Amino acid sequence: MKYALVTGGSRGIGRAICLKLASMGFFILINYNSNREEADKTLRLVREIGSDGEILRFDISSQEQIEQVLGQWQASHEDAYIQALVNNAGIRKDALIMWMKNEEWHDVLNTNLHSFLYVTRFLIKDMLIKKHGRIINVVSLSGLKGLPGQVNYSAAKAGVIGATKALAQEIAKKNVTVNAVAPGFIKTDMTKDLDETQLKAMIPMGRFGKPEEVAAAVGFLASEEASYITGAVINVNGGLYT
Ligand code: NAP
Repeated sequence: MKYALVTGGSRGIGRAICLKLASMGFFILINYNSNREEADKTLRLVREIGSDGEILRFDISSQEQIEQVLGQWQASHEDAYIQALVNNAGIRKDALIMWMKNEEWHDVLNTNLHSFLYVTRFLIKDMLIKKHGRIINVVSLSGLKGLPGQVNYSAAKAGVIGATKALAQEIAKKNVTVNAVAPGFIKTDMTKDLDETQLKAMIPMGRFGKPEEVAAAVGFLASEEASYITGAVINVNGGLYT
């Protein structure tokens, strides 16, 4: 059995990633934080395509919850290990820096950046022992280009991009790859409050992307075909660069 953990697998891009990896034969560990119904729906869809999975609830910004839930999972699956980790869950709390509250800064950094440390560090040991693993971080155009109103989010995603490149070099010899996928504007709950008509005028392809278009890049990086790719950032943005 090949196991993959997708953080924030209950909705949006994370759900599409769960389905892509399920279609590749992975057993999917679907993480969510608050929306159980949507996590159940993802599991149903995973089963509909002939694979299987289970739901793991934990808040990725809580080291304690991560270690408790993943520790329990490991204890009850002694011979198994999670060979693909997709650090996908994320939030945005946009504000101009003048008005940004400490809480908006810390919440976004905790959920988008510190979670990378907690989850990855917990799972990496098994990958190193088995000398095989895939770590894929869902970052953002915002972390490469910087977007006004998102100083907290851009900082967090840029942090994950730097961490991706550093960790890739740290563990390359162990056959564990670490890559990032940087979506532009993708149609999900996260972007539903944005003015799509105005924003799509900036995008060379003239439209927002679909979650499945991000999942395709993640699937490739998780596959055997991507075995010599590490430390890379793949843009999935309809041509919208800096
Ligand atoms: P979304 O539709 O808002 O879904 C967010 C997912 O993350 C949900 O499954 C949610 O779980 C989970 N989540 C949020 N906070 C969590 C926490 N503390 N612990 C565990 N799970 C948590 O977002 P999305 O658009 O699919 O975004 C997915 C990733 O892509 C994020 O990292 C985002 O920054 C990145 N991204 C998105 C876009 C875009 O245009 N949509 C562009 C660039 C990058 P619940 O269902 O339980 O709330």
